[in-house]
Amino acid sequence: MPGSLHEPIGLYVHVPFCVSKCEYCDFASYPGREADIPRYVDAVIREITRCGAESGHPKADTIFLGGGTPSLLDEFQVTRVLDALFEAFPIEERAEITCECNPGTLTTHFAQALRKAGVNRLSMGAQARQVSLLRLIGRIHDWEKVIASVEIARKTGFDNMNLDLMLGLPSQTVSDVRDTLEASVALSPTHLSCYSLIVEEGTPICRDITLGKLALPDEEIEREMYELARQTLAEHGFHQYEISNFAHEGHACRHNVGCWTRVPYLGFGCAAHSFFEECRTMNPSKLDAYLAGEEPKTEQISKEEARFESMMLGLRMTRGVKNEDFTRMHGMSIREAFGEKLDKPIGAGLLEWHEGALRLTRLGMDLQNSVLVDLM
Ligand code: SF4
Repeated sequence: MPGSLHEPIGLYVHVPFCVSKCEYCDFASYPGREADIPRYVDAVIREITRCGAESGHPKADTIFLGGGTPSLLDEFQVTRVLDALFEAFPIEERAEITCECNPGTLTTHFAQALRKAGVNRLSMGAQARQVSLLRLIGRIHDWEKVIASVEIARKTGFDNMNLDLMLGLPSQTVSDVRDTLEASVALSPTHLSCYSLIVEEGTPICRDITLGKLALPDEEIEREMYELARQTLAEHGFHQYEISNFAHEGHACRHNVGCWTRVPYLGFGCAAHSFFEECRTMNPSKLDAYLAGEEPKTEQISKEEARFESMMLGLRMTRGVKNEDFTRMHGMSIREAFGEKLDKPIGAGLLEWHEGALRLTRLGMDLQNSVLVDLM
């Protein structure tokens, strides 16, 4: 497989169903379409089977069921999807198999079915402890549901768990973030993701901000929230391994690390992307188009694009991009690939060499986009 350092690939399945649409969401998710779940599951299984054969059944060591809300499938449907993956691809014995779920939609039966089908990691969209913030962004749960879902997961044998949290929400305060971090840590997850709100055009939250009905915290406050997350989580033994991701030793999300280090992956379902043999494939993002069998779009990645992608993705990781890995993947060193383009961000204290890797400095993490513009 050209351009890859690792042999086993990642597998992703997109489940585009949600109970309702969150105010900030521009993911492929379709509330009110639950009646289409059986048809969708059949289509995804057909795609998995076909793709397994066409790709030559490569070995996989991570599986990620994401969404949308995968926990809206029933136990039989999720088992069928996972069984299809195990039939179409040799899955390594110690594979990381993650399922996303939203608090309030995780039932004991579903969690048991996941365990039985091999899932060993759960990722939960907890977001914030304050119910007022959760309602403001259109989430349907409250913190009691987060606690209840974590309990269900634990009782079913899940000890590897992520909680997703959000920073920079309208009207969110630093003290809200502190409460949320403390409440989250108290649930003993192995992994926490702290994402800053991205206001996507066309979403209700974007409209309300534009109309002045909602106001985002100013940049200084948002930076304070992020610093608070970094410090609090470090105090609790979470190692920051990516701009927004923190984990206990040995619990970084291997699937996502694979994506950031250009390990090939195959994605199934509407809006799923694949990266395989230096080709990027994008399935139709509209549910109806996917169900109607519309063809995916494919583009070949040029060598130059591949080199830039290695930096764009790899610099998200706190360890940066190892020169040795880069050279093995691209046949030239980082310096040979980017030459003088490196001088400006290094001179400005945004990039630094550390133990044979090029990485963002703390300041560079805040200004990552400007670093990438310099490297373009
Ligand atoms: S749960 Fe996630 S995918 Fe579903 S609407 Fe909310 S943000 Fe979007």
